[in-house]
Amino acid sequence: MKIVTDPRCTEYSAPGHPERPERISRTVEALKAQDKLKLTWTGPAPAGEAAILRAHTAQHLEQIQKPFDFDADTPAYPDIAAHARRSVGGAWQALQSARAGEAAFSLMRPPGHHAMRERAMGFCYLNSIAIAALEARAGGCKRVAVFDFDVHHGNGTEDILLDQPGCAFISIHQHPAYPGTGLENRGGNCFNFPVRPAAPRHEYRAILARALETLKKFRPDMVAVSAGFDAYRGDPLADGTLEAEDFYWLGETIRRMEVPAFGVLEGGYSMALPELVLAYLSGVNG
Ligand SMILES: [Zn+2]
Repeated sequence: MKIVTDPRCTEYSAPGHPERPERISRTVEALKAQDKLKLTWTGPAPAGEAAILRAHTAQHLEQIQKPFDFDADTPAYPDIAAHARRSVGGAWQALQSARAGEAAFSLMRPPGHHAMRERAMGFCYLNSIAIAALEARAGGCKRVAVFDFDVHHGNGTEDILLDQPGCAFISIHQHPAYPGTGLENRGGNCFNFPVRPAAPRHEYRAILARALETLKKFRPDMVAVSAGFDAYRGDPLADGTLEAEDFYWLGETIRRMEVPAFGVLEGGYSMALPELVLAYLSGVNG
């Protein structure tokens, strides 16, 4: 399995912000310290401008270069546009690996699934998974599914993929919670599975299982996973109840579909993040 990362993604931060560099550096350390999973390491590929412009407006690309905060959660860090582009490149590289037959995971920041066609929000600037999904379509995949198990609704991915031919978006998330969307299905291709706050673990698992059935029914020839680990019971940003073994099970279920797949890190803010990523990747690897 291939892990895509770049140490430059740890070079920006804001005091007290939960989306912090240690999320990546500690996870890289944990993955390098273990020997159960055979991993190969690579860096992000440069993502083409034309590919980014399938998902975002030119005006949005200009906007993220400016030194103005987008909202309290989404500051205008120095060089954030370059960081966001490298994170897109991580998803891009992971997609290339999946197309070549090797499972891959992009371990980069910033995350992307809240970034809308023309708005940065929720720690997200460019929507890496949507850009990669549209690139997969342009590159010949007929049916591309984005499966988003971050505890927050991937409103940006939905905004970009809504009614895009050959694309489906499937999200399981807490509701009510940030950003407040994702209560209903939208268009013919966006399927939302809300979970009430603090729902017991078996209930959360049952909703995940329904979402996975919807994923299988779509019969994708490429699965792009928005992997957020903030539905974990110990996460400070939401009220999820999942355990590490549930993330293993998610990875295992996706592997058993026997469809090319890649993952991209979205959220996950607890100290257990390295262990949760390792559990998920172990499931993907088998
Ligand atoms: Zn999240």
